[in-house]
Amino acid sequence: MPVILPSAWQAQLSGAIRDPRELCRRLGLDDSWLPGAEHGHALFEVRVPEAFLARMRHGDPDDPLLRQVLPLAAESEVVPGYVADPLSEADHTPARGLIHKYTGRVLLITSPACAVNCRYCFRRQFPYEENTPSRSQWETSLEHLSGDTSISEAILSGGDPLAASDRQLAWLVERLDAIPHLKRLRIHTRLPVVIPDRVDDALLEWLGATRLQKVVVLHINHANEIDDAVVEACERLKAAGVTLLNQSVLLRGVNDGVDALAALSERLFEAGVLPYYLHVLDPVAGAAHFDVPDEEARGLVAGLRDVLPGFLVPKLVREIPGGASKAPL
Ligand code: SF4
Repeated sequence: MPVILPSAWQAQLSGAIRDPRELCRRLGLDDSWLPGAEHGHALFEVRVPEAFLARMRHGDPDDPLLRQVLPLAAESEVVPGYVADPLSEADHTPARGLIHKYTGRVLLITSPACAVNCRYCFRRQFPYEENTPSRSQWETSLEHLSGDTSISEAILSGGDPLAASDRQLAWLVERLDAIPHLKRLRIHTRLPVVIPDRVDDALLEWLGATRLQKVVVLHINHANEIDDAVVEACERLKAAGVTLLNQSVLLRGVNDGVDALAALSERLFEAGVLPYYLHVLDPVAGAAHFDVPDEEARGLVAGLRDVLPGFLVPKLVREIPGGASKAPL
């Protein structure tokens, strides 16, 4: 039987740091804060790939990349209004692994895994085990898509959809390709950012083969996340005919200043990516310490308008449970 070796990105994914003490040690940081933070780690484990760690500043506990992945004692605080499923996604799942809450678009939970665990993630408590379909369960989702001609766009989400194998993704995209009323394939992913080697030849092969128009929505919150390897990954995606957009989350202690947000927009555009959305935080339990109040958020975007051309100013939005689309602030 032939031995299938993991790709370079898969080896990096399985070698990601999963121990908060190891994370601190590698960055030369004191870990005396950990006793209060272990509860957060137990609920939603630390996961940081080496390629992302390499972009953090050594010895700086306030590094904006570290802040996104480091559990803090504040995650254990019970804050009114912060709940396990802030977007009520469990109410919009007509088939296992399928979320249909917007007209014309459906979201397919393609992989439960992420390459990095972001502490503010609104799906940090989503029941992925209940929503990760087997191939036969995919057939039910595909039937739902085939039977509803109002759907023109399939969105691969997760977790991170690109954490699935290229074999699985090639199969799924080929099936989507065969649904005549589908026009677009959108992929929401953080993998090309945290492990740029994910954009390898095998991925570009199935992505390049589909007739569907392709949009990849990256998730980048700070300019320091974009190193040369990320720029190269973006160039490869663009060469495969992909439109690249970015969405960020406005996060206290990470990007809550005009300078940081302007630097992010500039750096994104240098990498060929358009800033698209700036989300206010979804009120998921354990993430209240990242919140930036609406008034302050509006002021930051007004500040961006003063220093950037309009096309580099992302739309400030909030996701409303049950809303027909994201709500501008
Ligand atoms: S779904 Fe996105 S935001 Fe949430 S942990 Fe995974 S990569 Fe981070």
